[in-house]
Amino acid sequence: MSKGIAENLHPGTAIEKHRRWRGLKDTAYDYGQWCRLWGILLKWALAHPAQNVKAVFRYRWMFSYLTVPSFFDRLCAGQRGAGLRAARNNLNYLASDVTETLTTIFSADLHLHPGSKKAEALNKQIICVDELLPALIGKGFPNCKTILLQEYPMYLPSLINQHSPVHYIGQTELHGLPADVCPLPSFEAGLAIEDDFPKIGCCMLTSNMPCDGSIMTSMLQDRRIGLPTQPLNIPLRWKREEVQEYAVAELLSAIEFLEKYTGEKYDWDALKEACEIWNEQNKAKFEKWELNRTQLPPHTGSSAWLYRIFEHQAVCGEPKALKNDRKVNKLLQKQVAAGICPKTIRHRAVLWNTPCNNYANFNNWLLECWGIDSVCEMIDLHGTELIDTGTHESMLYGIARMYQTSTMRAHTKGGYELMLDGLWEKYDEFNADMVILFDQISCKGVGAISGLFEEGARQRNIRLCTVRQDLMDPTSISRREMRNDVNIFMQTVMNETPLDPSLVTFDDDESW
Ligand code: SF4
Repeated sequence: MSKGIAENLHPGTAIEKHRRWRGLKDTAYDYGQWCRLWGILLKWALAHPAQNVKAVFRYRWMFSYLTVPSFFDRLCAGQRGAGLRAARNNLNYLASDVTETLTTIFSADLHLHPGSKKAEALNKQIICVDELLPALIGKGFPNCKTILLQEYPMYLPSLINQHSPVHYIGQTELHGLPADVCPLPSFEAGLAIEDDFPKIGCCMLTSNMPCDGSIMTSMLQDRRIGLPTQPLNIPLRWKREEVQEYAVAELLSAIEFLEKYTGEKYDWDALKEACEIWNEQNKAKFEKWELNRTQLPPHTGSSAWLYRIFEHQAVCGEPKALKNDRKVNKLLQKQVAAGICPKTIRHRAVLWNTPCNNYANFNNWLLECWGIDSVCEMIDLHGTELIDTGTHESMLYGIARMYQTSTMRAHTKGGYELMLDGLWEKYDEFNADMVILFDQISCKGVGAISGLFEEGARQRNIRLCTVRQDLMDPTSISRREMRNDVNIFMQTVMNETPLDPSLVTFDDDESW
């Protein structure tokens, strides 16, 4: 009898004792891509060694980035064939973009270079935006770099290392802020309290996205960041035509604000070029959805949704991202055309609501333990409309629409029809046979309608498994507890036996 996967994991840390065997070709490919990742990381580290060492000691969250190779391995667990190649290419592209941005951030950071004229000059060309605002609007300033300020100290570390939010959330609570707020805004508030945002940029665009908790934390951040700031307000009910005019007016006002503080004139041709690239990126995503609707879904797993969020927010309109998409799609299409599916799929699931950052590789576990393939994810369904680049006005309308369907916004705040009816539509569209519904215990808007999901599933005879999670706080709900919700459902409701019994219960509490 072959050994279970969990027997290759160190208890507690769940680090693999040796690299996975996936057959000769896939193991060699995986190893090659792992070496490529080390090449990207070493290139970054050695380009500015003193600055990077300083950053590791200055910022607690920087430690998480040192564990990236292990993070990528977790996201590729169980992947083979084109799925593995897609995951590795997406992740390595992400690593090269993030390391480039970290170099810009640390070179301009006045915490690391106090009083430096060079850093000050660089800051004049940096536009900071809230991490929920896609960087596309900044493409009209080709001489400037748009940086999603919270993406690098907060969002990515929360995915890479489950423990990274804990200290900052603790600081927020220690300073008297409510303990029942969602961990995302709480983490951001903690960063502001600890003064752990890099000191960069010439101005900042904040936003009302995604929710009330996030709006409250903007005030705290604003005090600490201290840049000239303007909020870019994004309407909630993006399906309604009457809000679009307001959304466009907000964008125009933001452009005016950015022109004032960057001293640059807005370049509409550069914006048009970026929108056209973004449209192509989006078409590549539509192709992936189409492939996942077949009986051989090739592009599933955590790396798929993670890459989509990153692409929508940080690298929209980036030619290098589009090049990666085209390369990945070719691999996926080839595999589907050959009728190959190198994984065991027992169930096709729609995963609904915001996924859990502190268990980013949850999808990989679902597949390996129970044969549940996540053919569709709510968080993946962003910016689903193409931008009409015919005129300045049509472009702004398209961008406004894209912003309204940002991460966590499109469904969780878009209205009842999108959040609830949208689930049943996707269930049919992707030929699913079960739903995994994340019960994000701090996301109160969605929590308020949890009973409606259950009632709707009962009426339609859909098997719906509710998994509790707390977005990025492993101290309230652990990875083990999330798995347990699925285990109980699969054993009692689905009457299933696991594909790999060793993965039903194992210890990964100390894992990054
Ligand atoms: S999970 Fe919910 S509460 Fe938390 S930031 Fe997102 S929308 Fe807000």
